[in-house]
Amino acid sequence: MEASGPRSGMRTDGLDFQSDLAQFVIVPGPDCYDRTIRMALRFYNTLTQTVEDFVPADGQTVRMYTCGPTVWNYVHIGNLRTFTSQDILRRWLQYRGLKLMHVMNITDVDDRIIQQSAAAGQSIYEYTSQYTDAFFTDTGKVRLQRPEQVCKATDHIGDMVKLIEGLTANGCTYESEGSTYFRIASFPEYGKLAHLVFEGLKAGARVDSDKYDKDNARDFVLWKAKKEGEHFWQTPLGDGRPGWHIECSAMAMRYLGETLDIHAGGVDLVFPHHENEIAQSEACTHKPFARFWLHTEHLMVEGQTMSKSLGNFYTLRDLLEKGYAPETVRYLLASVPYRKQLNFTFDGIQAADTAIKRLRNYALRLKTSKFPEGVSAKLAERASAANAQFETALDDDLNTAGALGAIFEYVRETNTAMDAGEFLAGNVAGALDVLARFDKVFEVLEPTAAGGGMDDAAIEALTAERAQAKKSKNFARSDEIRKQLLEAGIILEDTKDGTRWKRK
Ligand code: AMP
Ligand code: ZN
Repeated sequence: MEASGPRSGMRTDGLDFQSDLAQFVIVPGPDCYDRTIRMALRFYNTLTQTVEDFVPADGQTVRMYTCGPTVWNYVHIGNLRTFTSQDILRRWLQYRGLKLMHVMNITDVDDRIIQQSAAAGQSIYEYTSQYTDAFFTDTGKVRLQRPEQVCKATDHIGDMVKLIEGLTANGCTYESEGSTYFRIASFPEYGKLAHLVFEGLKAGARVDSDKYDKDNARDFVLWKAKKEGEHFWQTPLGDGRPGWHIECSAMAMRYLGETLDIHAGGVDLVFPHHENEIAQSEACTHKPFARFWLHTEHLMVEGQTMSKSLGNFYTLRDLLEKGYAPETVRYLLASVPYRKQLNFTFDGIQAADTAIKRLRNYALRLKTSKFPEGVSAKLAERASAANAQFETALDDDLNTAGALGAIFEYVRETNTAMDAGEFLAGNVAGALDVLARFDKVFEVLEPTAAGGGMDDAAIEALTAERAQAKKSKNFARSDEIRKQLLEAGIILEDTKDGTRWKRK
């Protein structure tokens, strides 16, 4: 493989650890929602092992870093569970009127990538670019908002080198056979995130691989010496490539400053990845690296760890091929609070599909029924109560199950009120507002148009044409339209209030 020096486009400026606000598109919070209760927001912090009130350090803008994908393959539904929980977190912070500066890395160099790209006869750049694109295609399908800043490890080698040099200046590193290691004895707080005590570790015992367990805690590698045939960079640290952990510390501080408000990832990252990020960052800056650490529990499949050998391994693409809509996968992944294990089952995804249909049919009923005039004060209050319960649940460490419970209870009660003729025309706006608030966070109400599928406007145009055809007794045309819609998965229902449609 061709030797590579620093790539063009690589940063050459020093690490000043000053965040650069100007480069972010600030996402404004929705003005319509009450900002006064933002103080009620609470998250479980892995660092302190308690649920704490959350307010960003500057009171306005949340500086958040999430560990992104290793782009060596397609994302699986476990990865997507973690990324979806972070999307819910983003949306909830925005709902509460906060601004966001969210940075996510793309790990585009690591052991697996080097092996797989070599096997494919491609450079790491060619190899990873296809999976980076696929990542954004897939996460777009499940409606994940794109972080304000996405950054690739290979574009930040200079930042990593500077950080390692800073650690060396502070006496926290040593070199062995061309590689540079972090001396964990130099950071007495090592273990504070994972709440592990590492006493009596043999001085100088090292680990070269990026992933290892707590029983193998050792001095870990910051910079790996070049190996024959592997991609490498020529730097003042010698020819080689970065270890995995250093990339997140360097990029987080590059874009967000020395202390982040929130750092998040899957629970498997607590140790060693996040523990090492804390050690590298704090040993350099002597400041707390992140105020809140949020970790998403794993997704299991039918009660077991997902793995290719068990035949229970699914990517989003696998589920879409089986005919599930991406928003159904999104709903399922979001429905279990992020700190609880999620047991993926096909019954569960079916139930998610049914739940979304129920909400869509409710929205349709609201939009197409003719309710008696007037407004019921009791039902208006019921809508406010549903909103309050929804918001209280999400403020409480993102209790998505509680939030969904509040919405479905409201839907059940108001459906009953509609059947009894108690739901009045003046209550429609309040009910639609409940759904709108729900969908700002969960975003599942709008169906994904299937390949060549019909969007709402096209369906409504055909429904109107059919009504016209029936009126003029052109039954051949009206039957034809019904058939055409049915083939596109749309069912028509003729009611006393007119024709309603729903998706199968
Ligand atoms: P990776 O692409 O391996 O770097 O992982 C991307 C994200 O997915 C990380 O935050 C992991 O912690 C998370 N992750 C990996 N496996 C699972 C799983 N089974 N359930 C939930 N999150 C996972
Ligand atoms: Zn990371």
